[in-house]
Amino acid sequence: MSTIFKKIIDKEIPADIVYEDDLCLAFNDIDPQAPVHVLIIPKKEISSLAEAGEENRDLLGHMLLIASQIARDLGVSESGYRLVLNTNKEGGQEVEHMHIHLLGGRQMEWPPG
Ligand code: AMP
Repeated sequence: MSTIFKKIIDKEIPADIVYEDDLCLAFNDIDPQAPVHVLIIPKKEISSLAEAGEENRDLLGHMLLIASQIARDLGVSESGYRLVLNTNKEGGQEVEHMHIHLLGGRQMEWPPG
């Protein structure tokens, strides 16, 4: 099933894109929960991390390194940031296209809600 993120990948709807390459896309969250709130998504349609398999090993590693690079580029690497990968219903995932939240620019709390 196609999601709103697929429409962003296909440039059918706009997004505030901060990074793009052949494998992934990163854009600002429309409802930011921190001064920095970027979503990193694979261009390949993977509905959740639970659906990702061994064939996605390189892609998943790439996404983490890109998240780290974006954190550096946005100036939160040294101060610190949090990556969140909500997975399926109880994980709080609403959009069924795998995505990593990159949150930074404020003190994060623990435990998460
Ligand atoms: P999740 O609850 O982990 O599935 O997160 C989905 C995220 O996508 C939420 O933080 C939303 O604010 C965000 N979101 C939904 N639609 C858009 C959009 N069109 N552009 C940017 N972010 C979006």
